[in-house]
Amino acid sequence: MLATVNKITSYLEELAPLSIALPGDPVGLQLGRPGAEVSRALVALDPDQSAVDEAASIGAELLVTHHPLFYHKLTSINESFPEGALVAGAIRNKLNIYSAHSNYDVSPQGVTYQLAKTMDLPLENAVVLEAAGSEQLLKLVVFIPAGHEDNIRNALAAAGAGQIGRYSHCTFQTGGTGTFMPGEGTSPFIGTGGQLEKVDELRLETILPAARRAAVIEALNEAHPYEEAAYDLYPLELEGKAVGLGLLLDLPGPLSLQELLQKCRDRLDVNNLRCWNAGKDSFKRIALCGGSGGSLIRHAAGLEADIFISGDFRYHDLKEAEGHGLALIDAGHDATEKPGVDHLRQYLERKLQAGGYGTEVCLQTSAGAKWS
Ligand SMILES: [Zn+2]
Repeated sequence: MLATVNKITSYLEELAPLSIALPGDPVGLQLGRPGAEVSRALVALDPDQSAVDEAASIGAELLVTHHPLFYHKLTSINESFPEGALVAGAIRNKLNIYSAHSNYDVSPQGVTYQLAKTMDLPLENAVVLEAAGSEQLLKLVVFIPAGHEDNIRNALAAAGAGQIGRYSHCTFQTGGTGTFMPGEGTSPFIGTGGQLEKVDELRLETILPAARRAAVIEALNEAHPYEEAAYDLYPLELEGKAVGLGLLLDLPGPLSLQELLQKCRDRLDVNNLRCWNAGKDSFKRIALCGGSGGSLIRHAAGLEADIFISGDFRYHDLKEAEGHGLALIDAGHDATEKPGVDHLRQYLERKLQAGGYGTEVCLQTSAGAKWS
């Protein structure tokens, strides 16, 4: 069985909901048909000509990228120009293109989280550098025939419900009597058609992030013994986990600038590093942002970071950091986002396998333009 573009994008949006994208960012399906079947998907940082060519050469029907295709407004699709030729070629090859950009930047398991994981930095007490909002939370109430509650609780927890801080499987249950009358054409788990049934049931309540809604309801319907599971979903006023750009974390012990630079070389497979040492011998509080972190310098300084590791720092960013006494390492825009791109491939492969789909997920192997 092959997944459709729509199925694959629903998996991506569990990880990076479109609702948390920064205002005006053109995220989501850039080009294509949601119902198209996908035998192979290619994951890349950029929707550039090298990625579109590689998708065609391996027979991929879907290209998943971090950077959006329509970041700058197109006024024509004229093949005399590179961007027109790119879009026209993708349409001719029936290539679907989907981008998870700022929604993946600010997602709790997003680009910077993956960068920190790849660099083996401690994430337990990490906080965002610049908050962009918080996860929306929902309350789920489901009615379960007595004896099936543990099975359903476990299925809901595995799908992402019932997590409060570091506690999982958080629910509340109370007993009562459920009633129903099976109608024509039903095959009820309990009861007989046309007769009112009264059943000992449990009301099980739990909490979930709105982004997990589809996965949790799918798990509920699979685990519930009834033909028609009865449940309610309520929006909550509670603030969920903060989402935002960049992360701040504390190392267990201080590292020297040389040790941090070596970590970048080893873990991010990058040789072209630029740095500025603010005159400190060692660094313990690290600010981190995959991509371009220049706009977050004041946030990193405000949170008393010793050093900020990101990409694309400009001369004026350096001067701003100097004013704050904040050291900088520029490890490159692409190198600091590569862990996030690798994770997209692994994540999709895992979800598709678990869903029973035969769709293959590949990572781009050809290279577009790179600084040397
Ligand atoms: Zn980027």
